Amino acid sequence: MSSPNKSHGRKSISVSLKPRELMTDAPQLAHVWAARIITLFPQAFPGVLGESLTGKALKDGKWQLTTTNLRDFGVGKHRNVDDTPAGGGAGMVLRPDVLGRAIEHTMKGVRGRCPLVYLSPRGRRFDQAMAREWSQCDGVTMLCGRFEGVDQRVLDHYDIQEVSLGDFVLTGGEIAAQAMIDATVRLLPSVLGNAESIEDESHSNGLLEHSQYTRPATWNEHDIPEVLMSGHHGKVAEWRRQEAETLTRERRPDMWDAYQPPAKKR
Ligand code: SAH
Repeated sequence: MSSPNKSHGRKSISVSLKPRELMTDAPQLAHVWAARIITLFPQAFPGVLGESLTGKALKDGKWQLTTTNLRDFGVGKHRNVDDTPAGGGAGMVLRPDVLGRAIEHTMKGVRGRCPLVYLSPRGRRFDQAMAREWSQCDGVTMLCGRFEGVDQRVLDHYDIQEVSLGDFVLTGGEIAAQAMIDATVRLLPSVLGNAESIEDESHSNGLLEHSQYTRPATWNEHDIPEVLMSGHHGKVAEWRRQEAETLTRERRPDMWDAYQPPAKKR
């Protein structure tokens, strides 16, 4: 490394660091995309985000992750964070005063475009377009719910956007947060070196991706499609385009209906 300053936002980190230590206590890298997570389970982070592409990028300071422990803002000796639902019923609800303090603490000093979202099965469904939009922001702040969820007044007061991972109910927002951050961080120009591999991917151009193959050429008597072994780039591209279209038509009629081939877009 002849010129360490060249690497934008790079942190100096020793090779012995464990994933948790990749996270900053406070966002400290200026102009580096920042995920801020408010959670009762900060130890769940970076979780799988500490691995592979996202993990290396985190280590290299190409994005940063901080957590706010909701428990630190709890009430009384036991630092209570929840209470029974007004009007009765099962479960517990996260208290607005506790959440409010945690949000104020987390948002302190946040500058630029940084959406504040609550992971919630009632929210707008997360998709590639949202990941792209967030990747063009300065970061994102995520509130992870637990139990029956959060007091509605907090969502109203801070105008928090509810975002869902899908039409199912998780026990908490942490897995959803990690999935959404993963999808977003890999779109940061500094993170995924090969921009071409993003363009072709499922959901990037309105189509599902074609099937992929690799060596060995024959496996269990199944051959790789001949055209892929031909070395003819034009034919390969045409085969892949057709396969992507066929798959999309068969599996996702909704996407196929919305699809506009690039030529028609002009
Ligand atoms: N009672 C709520 C569900 C609570 S589940 C309801 O019926 O709407 C507990 C927490 O898990 C939620 O507060 C939310 O943060 C998270 N969660 C559950 N399902 C989710 C999903 N599909 N997407 C994102 N977060 C989810």
